[in-house]
Amino acid sequence: MHEYHKAVEWVNQANEEAAKRGAEKVTALNVIFGESSDYSPEVVKGYFDEAAVGTACEGAKFNITVSRSMLKCPECGNLFEKKLLDYRCPSCGAEGNPTESGNEVELTSVEVE
Ligand SMILES: [Zn+2]
Repeated sequence: MHEYHKAVEWVNQANEEAAKRGAEKVTALNVIFGESSDYSPEVVKGYFDEAAVGTACEGAKFNITVSRSMLKCPECGNLFEKKLLDYRCPSCGAEGNPTESGNEVELTSVEVE
C-alpha cells in the first residue's frame, strides 16, 4: 500500500504547486524511482490516476527517471554502479557500501499550464 500513499502525496503536492503558480492544470510530474526502491512506478501511476480524478492533476503524465544503484568504496571513496551480484570496487576491489542513490522515490518537479 505504500504506492497508494505516495500517489496521494504527489497528487496533493502537485495540486498545491499548480495553485501556487496560478495554474489550472497539472500536465506532467517528473519523478525518480530508484532501481532498488521497492516501489513499482506503474502501480504508483495507477493509484495516481485514481486519486487525481476531479483535481488539477487529472490526466497528468508521469515522466519517470530510473536511478541506478550506486555503491561507495570504504577504502578509496570511489562511487560506482552496482552490478548484479558484484559489490566490489572497480579500482581497489574492496566491497562497496550502499548509498542513497538507487533507493529514492521522489517528485522532482511539476509541469503546469
Ligand atoms: Zn576502492
